[in-house]
Amino acid sequence: MKKNDFILVLVMVVLAGAFFIGREFVFSENNLVVQVKVEGQVYKTVSLREDIFLEIVNSKGKKNVLEIKDGKASITHADCPNQYCVHHKEISKAGESIICLPNQVVVSIKGDEEAELDAVS
Ligand SMILES: [Zn+2]
Repeated sequence: MKKNDFILVLVMVVLAGAFFIGREFVFSENNLVVQVKVEGQVYKTVSLREDIFLEIVNSKGKKNVLEIKDGKASITHADCPNQYCVHHKEISKAGESIICLPNQVVVSIKGDEEAELDAVS
């Protein structure tokens, strides 16, 4: 086997593996994650299946509290002036998000495969 052939085979194996794993995630509704971005940067990515409280603090010391319970995410507390994020309904589906403009916090639900790259950082 020539070196180039070996690389080609390797690439095909990796692609096949990636396709298989990707398909698993796309068709599994349970693999949703909640991605929290603060001032445009990924702050934290957590599974929607975990029941947690997460305190989000931005660079100005402003706080939002995210609650995930029973597969639904909501902002339970925020020290922003308008409180739109607190009054926003719970989110539970991929593509939904809660945005707190004053504190520059974005909480969004994504499929696992979309958030995978962010989770590394
Ligand atoms: Zn807010």
